[in-house]
Amino acid sequence: MAEILVLGAGLNGLVTAMLLARDGHSVTVLERDDAAPGDDADSVWRRWQRPGVNQFRQLHFMLPRWRAQMQHELPAVLEQVIAFGGSRVNVVGALPADMSGGWRDGDERFETVTARRPILEAAAATVANRTDGVRIRRGVAVTGLLTGRRVIAAAPHVTGVVVDDGAELRADLVVDATGRRSPVGSMVESAGGRRPREEREDSGFVYYARHFRSTDGFHPAAMGTLLQHFESLSVLTLPCDNSTWGVGFITSARDKQLRGLRDTSSWLAALKLFPTVAHWGDADPITDVQVIAGIEDRYRRFVVDGEPVVTRLVAVGDAWACTNPSLGRGASIGMLHACALRDLLREVDPDQPEKLVRRFDEITESTVTPLYRMTVAFDRHRLSEIAEDAAGEPCHTSDASWAMSKALYAAAQHDPDVLRAYASVMSMLCTPQQALAAPGMVGMVLTLGANAPRYPIPSPGRAELLSAIADPGTPR
Ligand SMILES: Cc1cc2nc3c(=O)[nH]c(=O)nc-3n(C[C@H](O)[C@H](O)[C@H](O)COP(=O)(O)OP(=O)(O)OC[C@H]3O[C@@H](n4cnc5c(N)ncnc54)[C@H](O)[C@@H]3O)c2cc1C
Repeated sequence: MAEILVLGAGLNGLVTAMLLARDGHSVTVLERDDAAPGDDADSVWRRWQRPGVNQFRQLHFMLPRWRAQMQHELPAVLEQVIAFGGSRVNVVGALPADMSGGWRDGDERFETVTARRPILEAAAATVANRTDGVRIRRGVAVTGLLTGRRVIAAAPHVTGVVVDDGAELRADLVVDATGRRSPVGSMVESAGGRRPREEREDSGFVYYARHFRSTDGFHPAAMGTLLQHFESLSVLTLPCDNSTWGVGFITSARDKQLRGLRDTSSWLAALKLFPTVAHWGDADPITDVQVIAGIEDRYRRFVVDGEPVVTRLVAVGDAWACTNPSLGRGASIGMLHACALRDLLREVDPDQPEKLVRRFDEITESTVTPLYRMTVAFDRHRLSEIAEDAAGEPCHTSDASWAMSKALYAAAQHDPDVLRAYASVMSMLCTPQQALAAPGMVGMVLTLGANAPRYPIPSPGRAELLSAIADPGTPR
């Protein structure tokens, strides 16, 4: 069994550490931020400072795929989320019966367990802390890589890391889970290697988000899916823990006219315009509007032109790839990636360093890269659509799969079978191709969705939205 260093104690770093330790590896997690979570949801939310995770208090929702995978691999994490006040939510069961057609056999697959992000991470940290073989060291920043005799001439062979007090920590394998701003690519270069391949681009989205708490102990009734698209923006309504929930507008960071959404009155006035989500703002806010922009699509690869650039170092979670998160996939993809690493280590020992890095690259490309690419494709199309809205231009896409995914969304508003196909894709339970392969599904989607308006859910036009933002005091 191997000595493994996991760099970063975010959601995916912790999950990776637990999965590897359960297989008998000895895992030390090094986390730059020094604060540990508190013992209850309230203190975690109010006091836990995590400057290393920019999106720490932003909207988060765990998809049913994450819940299913967790149930199978680390059920204690789900139990801990619930113990901290997390919610069980069924993303189809929560919808009005006239939309869902009522409960059906198999709808259990749409269940998830979710909470505000700090509570989710605190739950994972709590379970990791009591997992044999996991040691979490907080307040330890990794500053460089230790290397030894190379097994591939051009690739540094990692034997450990250097941390901020100068100490050297040795390991058989180093797992980079330092998140979207991972410094590890530069560390490989400083160690004399080629830079890992990196694709990097501002995703172009901005979030204007708030959290609320109910006074009656219930979440607002869902009148539509968690993510709804309207002219110029999308709205997320996400149930969380302890009678809290998050609501966010997601739009183009270039849309200067919507920047007034930073203001709480304008934000609320805008929300009130959207009949299917307006009531999610009828409660006590527990935050002002929290804005996050500059969210990058980023993808890294340690095999460049067919050759490893480093050995005994792999990356998981956001340190490997991340996108605009409106589809809520980061933790689910990270979990699948961590499981893939765990499975590979059952077959390939770190003593076979070249094989390990090559096989992990192949497995990453076949299992999680397609999910990353699909998410980026969605983002690009949605951003173009929002730009067309702002310019008052009609939709002009020549991409058949985007047209089909728009039709799927529109048809899901009207037909319970299509709704389940759509929910399966959004829950990451299957691919769009798998969902559309059900008998008769393509026909139904095209009949109900192909000629649907660009935004099938009743909503204000852009002019009305801009006027509410500019003058939130005027009743509409
Ligand atoms: C606005 C927003 C909303 C999101 N919503 C969702 C959602 O609804 N559902 C979902 O599944 N995902 C969502 N995500 C994505 C999700 O937050 C990430 O996928 C997830 O946090 C990644 O976890 P991670 O462990 O890979 O990295 P992170 O959580 O970023 O953790 C990285 C850790 O590494 C530490 N670190 C960095 N450098 C060093 C160093 N040199 N030494 C030691 N430690 C270091 C950091 O302090 C940090 O703790 C969202 C993201 C954003 C931006």
